[in-house]
Order: sequence, then structure tokens, then C-alpha cells
Amino acid sequence: MMENKAIGVDLGGTNIRIAEINSYGEIVYFYSEKVPAGRQAQLDTIKKCIEQLLSSEIKAVGLGFPGRVRRADGTAVTAGYLDLKDIPLVSFIMEITQLPTYIDTDANMALYAEMQLGSAVGAREVALLTIGTGIGGAIASGGKLFYGSNYAGQLGHINVDKDGETCNCGRKGCVETKSSGTALNRLLASSSLSPDMRVEELLVLDSQGDKTAHSVLSEWITPLRSAMDTIAAVLNPELILLGGGLGGVAFQVLQKLSVRGSAWFEYEVRACSLGDSAGVIGSGLMALSMIGENA
Ligand SMILES: [Zn+2]
Repeated sequence: MMENKAIGVDLGGTNIRIAEINSYGEIVYFYSEKVPAGRQAQLDTIKKCIEQLLSSEIKAVGLGFPGRVRRADGTAVTAGYLDLKDIPLVSFIMEITQLPTYIDTDANMALYAEMQLGSAVGAREVALLTIGTGIGGAIASGGKLFYGSNYAGQLGHINVDKDGETCNCGRKGCVETKSSGTALNRLLASSSLSPDMRVEELLVLDSQGDKTAHSVLSEWITPLRSAMDTIAAVLNPELILLGGGLGGVAFQVLQKLSVRGSAWFEYEVRACSLGDSAGVIGSGLMALSMIGENA
């Protein structure tokens, strides 16, 4: 029997991940490639990857984008680490595929997947922090993604230090400048530890009583807890999810160091369970739901 599927694209600053997703959110085929530098090369790579997966069973395309997007006309507004600012990506993809195409932030796509199949199944009030090179965010309320006027959920820009480092957004001391992977690398570089040390190794050292490892972990994770408390103060979510490349280890560090915020703010914390696949699964499932194909 012919099955309707979608192409899910998760465009990152380093890799483009692309998958054929069926209506159960299963990955039928997966492919990933490095993202080149330069606008035309980046567009050519997106085109080539999508063309490889086109077939008569593919009915829609979903794209998770690592920057702010204007969903009304499918345009990238800010492009983070990519060179795609102001590109009408939805039109670009529809010209290639002639298929309905949907764009959203990578964090919204990941949260959508976690709510359908992952750590947030059954939860209705959820915030997601994706911790990688930067920190992204997404919010669901009443079981649906929450957009505000358009761009809600920029949780990496919650301020935790008014005198901190300058952030991409132009302010100082956003949690992204304190608790991202980039911030962790900076903390390691200014310590006596190896700059390539992984969080898992820091946790082992911390267990052995290493004070430097403990202070690096503490400086890295405490601002994150502070931002989570601010999210709780504003949204009162039942659940805060930690995802992205460092979400799982950030969750472990929070547990291990028993970093507590104020008892005022109560919420459950979980690590995302779909890992790197959340972006392509969410993109594919969202595209299928937009054309009325739900499992
Ligand atoms: Zn910022």
C-alpha cells in the first residue's frame, strides 16, 4: 500500500540532516551532510539533499531552521550561523519540490517531536531549552506550540548577568553566553583543565573531588538553572526539557551538583529522548499534520 511520507529537514550551523518520515514519525531513510560556507553553496546543498529524497510517496516538506523565521511567508529573518538571512526558504523549496512546505525554528520542530513521541508525551505546558553552540528555546501551551506574535520562545536570551559577555542579540549576559557549549569551552580554556575536556569527564573528575572541574561545571550550569526559574516564573510549565547536543549532559550536571533555584519555582526537568533525530522527526511530522496526515 502506498504510504504518505514527508521529508524532514533539520538545518544546523554545522550539519544538514534530512530524513524521510512516515506518519508514525519513524525515520525511513536518513542522510546528513556538512553545511558549506557561503549563501549559494548552502542553498545548493539544501536543494541537492531534498532532490535525493523526492518520490511519489513524499507529500510534504518540513524544515527546521536555526534562527528566527517569519512563518507567514516562510522567510529566514535571522540566520544564526548560516548565511541565509532574508531568504524566502519556503518558496525556494516549493520551486524544487512542488510540494506543500512548512518552516519553523529547529527548537519548535524538536519540541513538536518530543511531544508526539519523546520525553514530553502527554504534557501540555512545556518549555524546551536546546543547548549546543548557542541556546535555543521553544514553548508549548495547552499542548500546542506557542508563538506569541511570531517569535516567542527565544529562551537563550533570558538575561542572567547584566555585566556578562555580549550576546548575538546585542545585550550582555544572556544565558546563551553562560551555559552554551561555546561558554563551556571558554570556561575550560580559562581553567587549568584541557580545553577539549568533555562534560562526562568533568563529572568523573568532580566525583573524585577535583575542585577545578567542580567550579567549571558549577559556573556553567548555575546560570542555566537561573534561566529555568525565570521561565517557570513567566510560564509555570509542568515540564522543562533539556535538548540539543549538550542537553543530556546538562541534565546530569544539574542532578549531580544539586543546583537548586528558589523553592518558589516548581517544575519537572527531563532530558529529551529523541536526541539528534528530534529535528527531522518533528519537521516531517509537522509537515504531515499540516496536510492532514496524522498517525
Ligand atoms: Zn541574547
